[in-house]
Amino acid sequence: MKYRRPPGTNDVTPQQAIQWQQMEAVFADLCRRHCFGELRTPIFEDTDLFIRSVGHGTDIVSKEMYTFEDRGGRSLTLRAEGTAPAVRAYLENHLAQQDPQRLVKLYYVAPIFRYDRPQAGRYRQHTQFGLEAIGSDCPAVDVEIIQTAVELYQAAGLRDVVLKLNSVGCPQCAPGYVQALRDFMADKLDQVCDDCRRRYDENPLRMIDCKNAQCRIVVEQAPKMTDLLCEECEDHFGHVRRYLELLGISYDLDPYIVRGLDYYTRTAFEFVAASIGAQSSIGGGGRYDGLVKQIGGRSTPAVGIGIGVERVLLVREQQGVAQTEQPRDGCLVVTLGDAAWEAGLKLATMLRGHGVRADVDYRRRSMRAQLRHADGERFARALIIGDQELEQGIVAVRDMETGEQQEVTQDRLLQFVTGVPGQCEKQVD
Ligand SMILES: [Zn+2]
Ligand SMILES: [Zn+2]
Repeated sequence: MKYRRPPGTNDVTPQQAIQWQQMEAVFADLCRRHCFGELRTPIFEDTDLFIRSVGHGTDIVSKEMYTFEDRGGRSLTLRAEGTAPAVRAYLENHLAQQDPQRLVKLYYVAPIFRYDRPQAGRYRQHTQFGLEAIGSDCPAVDVEIIQTAVELYQAAGLRDVVLKLNSVGCPQCAPGYVQALRDFMADKLDQVCDDCRRRYDENPLRMIDCKNAQCRIVVEQAPKMTDLLCEECEDHFGHVRRYLELLGISYDLDPYIVRGLDYYTRTAFEFVAASIGAQSSIGGGGRYDGLVKQIGGRSTPAVGIGIGVERVLLVREQQGVAQTEQPRDGCLVVTLGDAAWEAGLKLATMLRGHGVRADVDYRRRSMRAQLRHADGERFARALIIGDQELEQGIVAVRDMETGEQQEVTQDRLLQFVTGVPGQCEKQVD
């Protein structure tokens, strides 16, 4: 093989695409019911958009972005995360219609590009289901975002999904916490990893969710943000918890959920699935009340989530929920002889025109080979036509599951195949 896909990328084959289509249909339907409108943004943006929103001190900006210069000398970056482009589009297209209090609910299905170490369920190009609700600081909106994700995981059939919840405060109370964290860590820097020593200066909050085992031991003793929230943040967090309980959504409080990005305020959450081991996160998000202003809009509260589709599919597979066998569907038109071949082409065309999945064997192999093909391609029926069937105006219909075969007259065939009465006026000739 001369060419292979780049490391950390993935092909979705037609068989795997069935799982993707199921998930995408479930997600689109949930978004419709929750009144989120679909947003599609370019696959690349101004590099500066990501730097301004995600922040200098983050791993994303410092080492994970796919950045390139175009022929016009602009610095562009492949979509490194979903929220900043959504907010950019929200502002550029005036989705708030001059009313910053107007709640704009957006969803997207988008590839995200990060130069990360490839591992199971973690790709350099992965797909994200994203939700963003821009324009409201109501804690019930935080909860609707969480609820939509919960419903998605349920519809996907996932078991043992845990919601981890935290509040990371606001510009009034977070700096006090960062100071408390610095004070606590000051004499422990010899006990943490190199990354954390760098984070101590650049972005101390990121020390909290370091995955290094030694760092975690140190961090367990550190002060917790939820103990240092200002009154407004305390009230907001209390209402989020109240509404979650009201709607029957269980959660664990987790002080280590700080999210990777600088713009998060107040509610921060993550969903983890039990069976997937170290790569346990299947979605996460939170409130980002500072971001809209940060990238040039008026101060506007907002909250969102990103769900990693590959991760969800991996957990489905590990939990044995994924449907591995494609259900039987449609008809293979099996023909023997030249006259039957031409009748078969017309029959397949007629069936497709009526919404039936239908195909012919272009290699025109033996009947046995064609029936094997019908089985392998998961057709529900084989419609067999030879000279004798043509002469009698019938088709031999073979049920591929049971192997039972019966003769059906051509004028009844469509009704027989679709189970819809009254559609038999279009005959095969
Ligand atoms: Zn606060
Ligand atoms: Zn560390």
